[in-house]
Amino acid sequence: MNVVPTDPTLAGLWAEFSERIREVFQKAREVDQPAGTTPGWARFCERYGVSALSDEERQEVLRAQNPTRGAAVMEFFDLVHRLCTDHRARVRQTCRGVDDDDVERQCRRLLNLVERTERELVDAYRRAVLPPRQGMFANVFAGASGASARPGPSSAALTCRHCGAPRLSVDDLECAYCGQKMI
Ligand SMILES: [Zn+2]
Repeated sequence: MNVVPTDPTLAGLWAEFSERIREVFQKAREVDQPAGTTPGWARFCERYGVSALSDEERQEVLRAQNPTRGAAVMEFFDLVHRLCTDHRARVRQTCRGVDDDDVERQCRRLLNLVERTERELVDAYRRAVLPPRQGMFANVFAGASGASARPGPSSAALTCRHCGAPRLSVDDLECAYCGQKMI
């Protein structure tokens, strides 16, 4: 299915949003140290006004979530929230007073993508950086099996092989960002 808008302004907004989402997902995963940071990630957070966790908070995240790698989920969550809020406002601004059914539908599709991203991207990121077994026994098993040494899921399982955008749901057969088949 062709999900990308045909209206040039909306197509531009769609492309920019997809690019930002690809970038944030990739940069967050690139952080090798669990709940750590890199200069690139720190700059990204700063650009969007997300404050970095303190060292104490990082220790707390390590204890509570036992991530295998990647920027802290909390920082990722804040960043995605800001990106989506910012983008939603721009799409609404662009679509205000549109008097064309087709363009109106494209506006709704773009807003839906932003909504879906805000709802589902953090879970997709959790799948990428947290150990598969989460729950009350997570720490016990982590201690016994060395969960933090296990590699995370492969890139192919997490991102679209056509556009590199994150896969929002494991059940998705088509990429939410480019509309290409996932398999
Ligand atoms: Zn894609």
